[in-house]
Amino acid sequence: MTILFSEAEDILDKSVNGKRLSTDEGVKLFSIKDITILGMAADTVCKKKHPEDYRTYIIDRNINYTNICTSGCKFCAFYKTDEHHDGYIITKDILFKKIEETMSLGGRQILMQGGLHPSLPLDYYVDLLQSIKREFDIHIHAFSPPEMVHFSKLQGIPVRDIIQRLKTAGLDSMPGGGAEILNDRCRNLLSPGKCTAQEWLDVMRESHNLGMKTTATMMFSHIETIEERIEHLEKIRRIQDETGGFTAFIAWTFQPKNTQLDPLLTSQYRDMGRIGSYDYLRTIAVTRLYLDNIPNIQASWVTQGAKIAQLSLKFGANDMGSTMIEENVVRATGVSYQMDKDEIEFLINDLGYEARQRDLYYQVF
Ligand code: SF4
Repeated sequence: MTILFSEAEDILDKSVNGKRLSTDEGVKLFSIKDITILGMAADTVCKKKHPEDYRTYIIDRNINYTNICTSGCKFCAFYKTDEHHDGYIITKDILFKKIEETMSLGGRQILMQGGLHPSLPLDYYVDLLQSIKREFDIHIHAFSPPEMVHFSKLQGIPVRDIIQRLKTAGLDSMPGGGAEILNDRCRNLLSPGKCTAQEWLDVMRESHNLGMKTTATMMFSHIETIEERIEHLEKIRRIQDETGGFTAFIAWTFQPKNTQLDPLLTSQYRDMGRIGSYDYLRTIAVTRLYLDNIPNIQASWVTQGAKIAQLSLKFGANDMGSTMIEENVVRATGVSYQMDKDEIEFLINDLGYEARQRDLYYQVF
């Protein structure tokens, strides 16, 4: 699709002036080849929402309590089957040491996610949360919607009751992982063992209705069309209109190496050629323009590296995400960027902003 310059200007003006974009207009944004004008519009909208003289980041650690998973997602290089000799379930000793280390580095939050383990009962997760809270004063951001749906099916308990039990045990907020693209054509190809798009959205609605904040995510640049990307954003925007429960939106590009999808991409999809920083930056700009009701957009240095993540702060993002003291899932695809607090602060300062540490609710300290 091509777009006239005047039409592109009209859509960007509309967004900059606080008017909501339609799905058609969202799709057209992707036809704007000059990403600098997209970036400038997204930066203007971002500055209106965040006139502060700082940009944020968080110190936390991504702890995977198990890598054993029944889902078999084709884009995942991290999981192991139940019988695999490298499969693990974390011990409390190791978990507590990781939390101690996180806190000694100034972290106040852990992100805890796992594979969809075939037999761990709900009591295991309840006990895990209760024991962490007994030992540490730390925010627990854990269990994405596919895990919640998996617990529910395994236990025969409604999702709402699962969330309520975990919340009572100490769960503070939920990560928006496992969204990939919220379209079942994509999900059936990528991750047929995982929850459907509707189930993902229903878990988020339930969590928000129970008073729990969550994030929302998108993993893109694989087999989805531009229309499906906008469909994903539209579904997130609608839930946010209903509940206001999403604190932030985080998008990252699919990393093919060591995954079952890599050969598929070679034969069928590689000509789409969308895996690059150009696509990443324009998508970040589009998310800022389209998701008018989500306050915070995160940069993804884990998949894009420090320099592109820094540029994202000029393309609509207002947050550098986490220092990720530990990250295992992207690393399993052979992509391994490292950043510490000093480097994140340098990148933010370099743009003329003060760097401030924040919590999940974007309160700075
Ligand atoms: S992405 Fe998550 S659910 Fe899918 S196979 Fe990997 S660990 Fe399992």
